[in-house]
Amino acid sequence: MTQTVDRVTALRDQLVAWRRHLHMNPEVGFHEHETAAYIEAELRKMPGLTVSRPTETSVLAVLKGGKPGRTVLLRADIDALPMEEENTFEFRSQKSGAMHACGHDGHTAILLGVAKLLSEQAAEVPGEVRMIFQHAEEIGPGGAEELVMETGLMDGVDVVTGLHLNSQLPVGQVVVKPGAFMAAPDTIHITIQGKGGHGAHPEQTVDPIAVGAQVITNLQHVVSRHVAALDALVVSITYFQSGTTHNVIPDTATLMGTVRTFDPELRQRAPGLIERVVKGITAAHGANYDFKYEFGYRPVINTDWVAAQLKEIALETVGPEHYEDAKPTMGGEDFSAYLEKAPGAYFNVGSGSDEADSRWPHHHPRFTLDEASLETGVRMLSAAALRLAQPQE
Ligand SMILES: [Zn+2]
Ligand SMILES: [Zn+2]
Repeated sequence: MTQTVDRVTALRDQLVAWRRHLHMNPEVGFHEHETAAYIEAELRKMPGLTVSRPTETSVLAVLKGGKPGRTVLLRADIDALPMEEENTFEFRSQKSGAMHACGHDGHTAILLGVAKLLSEQAAEVPGEVRMIFQHAEEIGPGGAEELVMETGLMDGVDVVTGLHLNSQLPVGQVVVKPGAFMAAPDTIHITIQGKGGHGAHPEQTVDPIAVGAQVITNLQHVVSRHVAALDALVVSITYFQSGTTHNVIPDTATLMGTVRTFDPELRQRAPGLIERVVKGITAAHGANYDFKYEFGYRPVINTDWVAAQLKEIALETVGPEHYEDAKPTMGGEDFSAYLEKAPGAYFNVGSGSDEADSRWPHHHPRFTLDEASLETGVRMLSAAALRLAQPQE
């Protein structure tokens, strides 16, 4: 173990160099052409890996270990977000309209580090370790779904794991939990069809803005009065667009929002509960509506025994002072697609610190990482690969 720790420490500069290169050159989902080419080129420098492209912008590295064991899939996502970076450090995004604001540059650097470590000790590695550099996590239906459904990536995989860096946790802290970890993120689209007219004569119109405001208010009753307090449900209207000027009541209003659940039964009920409110409110005011409910990623439900093993690994690797049981989060992740095909667990590694000014929330224009988190990520993920690939008793 000491030897592994030393080798990770020796990798520090390389991890930072990979991360900064990726950070400077962000590409959004399904457009990760240079990113994938860079990852592939770096992997080809490492001995003993079989490198391929399961899709145009994803990269797979396979390491056949020298000892018998199981097949483990390790996953990193590689895509950036369509937004402007506001950081001023010299490795800030060089591409306008794209930024690594979720930490996927760090995930990629970590998995490259794991690939390097394991490839240098292939004879000691049990089973087979597949390392997938996945495209398009930020765009539904997501790169994971494509890899799982349309490539043979999951054939023969016994167990899967991966991590997300988390700016809201102190750098170096590891958290994991069995069972429900991340929510299913679904999307709603509502159009309210009213009847436009003069702002001075609302009685001659059906005002879609006034009706839309009622819809938004009443949707919160779905959460507070139709669903038990302990059944997690979030309904957020995040977009409300209508009108063109100050004295015209418009014809229509468009609303969009997100619906978050863990429980599959509640998730199936959610569209009906929401549409009932939209239908009732619009009918009460003489408006019409159009309602679309789009199911997003499934919730991330960690397999109990895999989460338990990751907890043990964390206690050994980072120590009890840097470990906590995770709390579930209403955020979503397409890691869930892998969990449909194999047992597995997703965990978080803290990347927040005052020294690195890295406590900004994910998806914020000032988001960044405390790069010490990269080493923790490599330690955790390489130890997880070695442990999970051990032959089953
Ligand atoms: Zn994100
Ligand atoms: Zn992310």
